[in-house]
Amino acid sequence: MVVGCLQKYLYLRTDINQTEMSSNIDQVLAFNRGYVASKGYEKHLTDKFPDRKLAVLSCMDTRLSVLLQDALGLKNGDAKIIKNAGAVIPSPWDSAMRSLIVAVYELGVTEIMVVAHTTCGACHMSFGHFKEEMLHRGIPAAELERADIDLNTWLEGFHDTEESVRNTVSAIVNHPLIPSDVTVRGFIIDSATGELTEVSC
Ligand SMILES: [Zn+2]
Repeated sequence: MVVGCLQKYLYLRTDINQTEMSSNIDQVLAFNRGYVASKGYEKHLTDKFPDRKLAVLSCMDTRLSVLLQDALGLKNGDAKIIKNAGAVIPSPWDSAMRSLIVAVYELGVTEIMVVAHTTCGACHMSFGHFKEEMLHRGIPAAELERADIDLNTWLEGFHDTEESVRNTVSAIVNHPLIPSDVTVRGFIIDSATGELTEVSC
């Protein structure tokens, strides 16, 4: 139902030109129509299996949106790229770990790179940073004191990037469902130059 409503909305908006658009999503949609029409996708055509049998767990930081693949020499189709806030695995059963397990067993990945980065926003992040803003934006105070999850822990960042990389590599290597023949190595990428530095784990 939601998708149907969205499609109807988009259909109704197709006659609005870019200068009248108020949202970035509208601008993205307008670009996308031109991209597909001009077959801009042809240079990226590939299949779902990573050609380099590689998975990269990195951060969602916008500085890495293009830089990460560019600096690592990875073209579309080379690697499974998994991103979250901080390139971390806070729980052995979280989404990032699940994606890595799928990458290994379903998609043939044999090597995993954990790539944190310099001046990461998740470094020194804490629930305290968000709490006041959440209340200000209308989240009920009771939701911030939930019994089913400790938000102080769930939204806690790391305080040392190298240590965080070691913890993440360890979480993958020691995961009960990761076979011992999978190679896992940790790195920190410079957010400006893309230079990789390996972290001894
Ligand atoms: Zn980051």
